[in-house]
Amino acid sequence: MKKLAEVLKDWEAVIGLEVHTELTTLETKMFCNCRLSHDDPPNTNVCPVCLGMPGALPVPNEKAIESIVMAGLATNCQIMRHSMFYRKHYFYPDMAKNFQTTQGPVAFCMHGHLDLEVSGAGAKERPDATVEKDADGGYVAPIRILRIHMEEDAAKMVHVGGEEGRITAATESLIDYNRCGTPLIELVTEPDLRTPEEARLFMEKLRQTFLTLGISDCSLESGSMRCDGNISLRRRGTTEFGTKTEMKNINSFKSLHDALEYEICRQAEVLEEGGIVYQETRHWEPSRRRTVVMRVKETADDYRLFPDPDLAPFDLTDEFIDRCRARIPELPDAKRDRYVADYGLKRADAAQLAGDPKVAAFFEESLEGVAEKNVGTLANVMVNLVPSYDALTVGQVRGIAGLLAEDALTFAQAREVLDAINGTDEDAVAYVDAHGMRQSTDEGALGAIVDEVLGLCTDQVQQYRDGNKKVLGFLVGQCMKAAKGSGNPKAFNKMLAEKLEG
Ligand SMILES: [Zn+2]
Repeated sequence: MKKLAEVLKDWEAVIGLEVHTELTTLETKMFCNCRLSHDDPPNTNVCPVCLGMPGALPVPNEKAIESIVMAGLATNCQIMRHSMFYRKHYFYPDMAKNFQTTQGPVAFCMHGHLDLEVSGAGAKERPDATVEKDADGGYVAPIRILRIHMEEDAAKMVHVGGEEGRITAATESLIDYNRCGTPLIELVTEPDLRTPEEARLFMEKLRQTFLTLGISDCSLESGSMRCDGNISLRRRGTTEFGTKTEMKNINSFKSLHDALEYEICRQAEVLEEGGIVYQETRHWEPSRRRTVVMRVKETADDYRLFPDPDLAPFDLTDEFIDRCRARIPELPDAKRDRYVADYGLKRADAAQLAGDPKVAAFFEESLEGVAEKNVGTLANVMVNLVPSYDALTVGQVRGIAGLLAEDALTFAQAREVLDAINGTDEDAVAYVDAHGMRQSTDEGALGAIVDEVLGLCTDQVQQYRDGNKKVLGFLVGQCMKAAKGSGNPKAFNKMLAEKLEG
C-alpha cells in the first residue's frame, strides 16, 4: 500500500466522528436511582427500571441534563429549549427492555464547533490549500459539531470460550447490567475532518474539555470515552462524497490515528485498482495494525424510533441554562491564552499545562510565592520533568525549579533528585544539600579552578586559540572534575570562554 502522504496528494479524506462519553462523575444512572459503579460485583446495581421490567417508570436524572448542557455550551452549541426522549428499538440482550432511550431529531445541543490548532509534523498530513497555513506550516481547522444528544448505555457483555474476539465461536456469554442505564452523551461531528491527525486532535480537545467540565473521567482505555470514525475518500478537487466505512474498537488516541491512516490507504488502493468501497463496519486490530470487516450494511437499520410515552418532553428554562453556564470553569483554550499572556510561556507549553485540569491546578498551586523571573523555569520543569513522575508534591517541584533557576543544579541532576524523592515527603533543597549536589556559581571559587585548569592544559589552550573551539567542552569537563562536580558547568563554560577569548 502507498504511504499516507502519497495518498493524500491525490485523494481527500472525509472523516466524521461519533464520540460516546459516559457521565462517570454522576452518582446515579440516567433513569433510576441505581448507583453508577465501575468495579462493583456484576449485577449488583440494578432495579426494575434498568432491568427493563414491565411497568417500571423512568425518571430523568437532572444532573445528567446539566452535564450535557454544560458540554454543549463548552463546544459552542445551540442549547435547544424544547426536546424529548425517543425509543430506539433493537433486540439484543445488552438492553433488557428491547429499546434504548435516546433522543430524536432534536437533541439538547445542536450545531456547535471546536477549532483545532494543527502544528508540527501533524500539520504536514494536510497538503491542500483549503486551509491557510502560517510560516511554520501550522493551521486552524474549524470542525463543526452536528449535535450532542443524551442516551443511556447498555449492559456489558463478555463472550468466553472459542476464538478470542469472535462472538459466533464463544461457548458462553456473560452479562453485567451494572452499566445498563449509565448516562451517556453522544457527540456527532460534521464530516469536516481531513486527516488522521485532525481526528486525533479533535478527540484530545474534546477529552480536555470534558475533563475540565468534570463531567466524566474520559478514559479511552476503560471505555468511558469511546469513538467511532466514519471515513470516505474523494478525488482532490471534487465535492461529491464517496462511500464511507465505519471504524470500531478504537481505544486510544494512537489507535484512532493509526486506524484512520490504514483505512485511508486501504480505500485508496481499492479505488485506484478500479474496485468498490463497500459500506461496512470495520474493526481495528492494533496488534496486526489493520482493519477487518465486522459486518456489511446493505440497508439502513430500522429502529422504529418514536417519542417515549413514559418521559415528558423537556422545556429548559433560561434560568436552568444560565445556572449550567455559571458552573463552567475556565476552559483549556482560555487558560492557555492566560498562561501565555501572564507568564510569557511558549504557546505549546501553555497548551500542554492547560489541557489537563489536574496538571493546571498543580502548576498554579506551585506558582504561589514564586518570583516572576523563575516562572519560566517552573513551567519548564512542569512540561519536561514532572510528567515522568506520579507522586511529586508542589513543594518538591517548586524546590527543584528554584535550584535550576539559580543554576545550583543541572537538568540531569534535577532528574536524579526527582527519581530519589518521588513518592516521599523529602524536601528537594534539603536532599540536594544532604548529598552535596549543590553547584557553586561563586565566581571567586570557580575562577581559581579555571585558572588552575588553564595552567595545566596548555596544549588544549593552544588548540583552542588555533581555532578548535570544541576543546572548550574538554576544559569544562576538567573544571568539573577539579570542582568534584560541585561547580556549575554553565558558569565554567562562560568563564573559560571569556578567559580564552580575552
Ligand atoms: Zn436501576
